[in-house]
Amino acid sequence: MAVGTMTTAGRARRAAYSFALLAGCALAPLGAQAQDAAPAAKPVVLHCPALLDSVAGKMLGQSSVVIQGDRVTEVVSGYVTRPEAEVVELAGETCLPGLIDAHVHLSNEFTPTVYSDMLHFNLADWVVRSTVWAKRTLLGGFTTVRNLGDSHYETVALRDQINKGWVAGPRILTAGPAIGSTGGHADDGDGLRMDLQPDVGAHDSIINGTADAWKAVREHYKQNVDTIKIMTTGGVLDLSGSVDNSQLTEEETKALVAAAHEYGYIVGVHAHGAEGIRRAVVAGADSIEHGTFMDAQDMKLMKEHGTYYVPTIYTGTYVTEKAKGNPHAYPPAVQAKALLVGPQLMKTVGDAYKAGVKFAYGTDAGVYPHGENWKDFPLLVQVGMPAMYALQMATINAATLLKKDKDIGSVAAGKYADIVAVPGDPTKDITLMGKVDFVMKGGVVFKKGGAEQVFTSTAH
Ligand SMILES: [Zn+2]
Repeated sequence: MAVGTMTTAGRARRAAYSFALLAGCALAPLGAQAQDAAPAAKPVVLHCPALLDSVAGKMLGQSSVVIQGDRVTEVVSGYVTRPEAEVVELAGETCLPGLIDAHVHLSNEFTPTVYSDMLHFNLADWVVRSTVWAKRTLLGGFTTVRNLGDSHYETVALRDQINKGWVAGPRILTAGPAIGSTGGHADDGDGLRMDLQPDVGAHDSIINGTADAWKAVREHYKQNVDTIKIMTTGGVLDLSGSVDNSQLTEEETKALVAAAHEYGYIVGVHAHGAEGIRRAVVAGADSIEHGTFMDAQDMKLMKEHGTYYVPTIYTGTYVTEKAKGNPHAYPPAVQAKALLVGPQLMKTVGDAYKAGVKFAYGTDAGVYPHGENWKDFPLLVQVGMPAMYALQMATINAATLLKKDKDIGSVAAGKYADIVAVPGDPTKDITLMGKVDFVMKGGVVFKKGGAEQVFTSTAH
């Protein structure tokens, strides 16, 4: 069943049709639970010694969270119970809203053999692995992710099968394949021998001109994506020479953003170079991803336009360290770019925070192993952010960027029962975010006392 934003009449009609086919399945705007995976009707009460209020940016003391089905019904100060409720004691824990990663790639991971795997693997191989990566992400405490780029819309299928209860994973908002230009970061033919470079076009998410821009977005709509990802500059891990050159014209960028907004999609923009960032911001894009070479003018424009910055900070450090540690870690063209980005990104993120740019949490997991999505937190604190702000980035800020803050991003009555816990106060020790030992998504417990709970699909 669809997860999408469904803001247009057409999408609403499409949703209504598919829900009619799934009689008895409640209409829900994000990550609806299948009836087969539905939790028992008995209420559940979580006793949390401390609870993060992500909206107010403060830590609350002893709190009870009352859950009925897949939603929170009450948040009460102190420990209470309710008739027939199952009480879950989370002694020693701090409860937080389910974490949100606004930038992942669940159908890929840069394992040591990835560049050759890309030539040997069929799509099915990646899809099978994506179910494992999705589960690792969920068990790491990330109950919602925005997937910003796949190969052939395979994460649309992953999203749907998670929502139907066949496999365990986070709520997914997926962009399908990223949209870019010929020879750009989104063009998979880069750096390959010429007979492995098909003449790709808008149908394959490669555009040249504004008509192609509209066609590519419409192709994505046709495949039932939730969001759009575009690439206005070069990138680190493709086999071309530049990380920061501009790869979409101002007109193409405006057309892509206009088309996406027309269909109710938010737009995440992969951009390292200052000019590509500027083009995206003035076009009205919703978030800048990476932003490595963002300059002062970009930061000023982002504040004026309310553009979010999703910094993927650990990925920058990760690829630089990997390249430093092994001269053959990446192909030569990638190696040179990888050495550049880590320190530059650390500096830019610190500067942008000081300049007052708004941030949402996003990691680029897939470039590094899925499930380690928490690793941005310590680096964000290292460049000068308060731990509380870093936690808000991964909860209410990311929910607001994704326009899902009515359903996720805080622990509150009416929202999904997406709740995680860590053993202690992460505002005092941010590395506790790597020790998530309780994970509930939509009222279903996937991890408890640090142990993965057996997930048995009863979907049929
Ligand atoms: Zn990415």
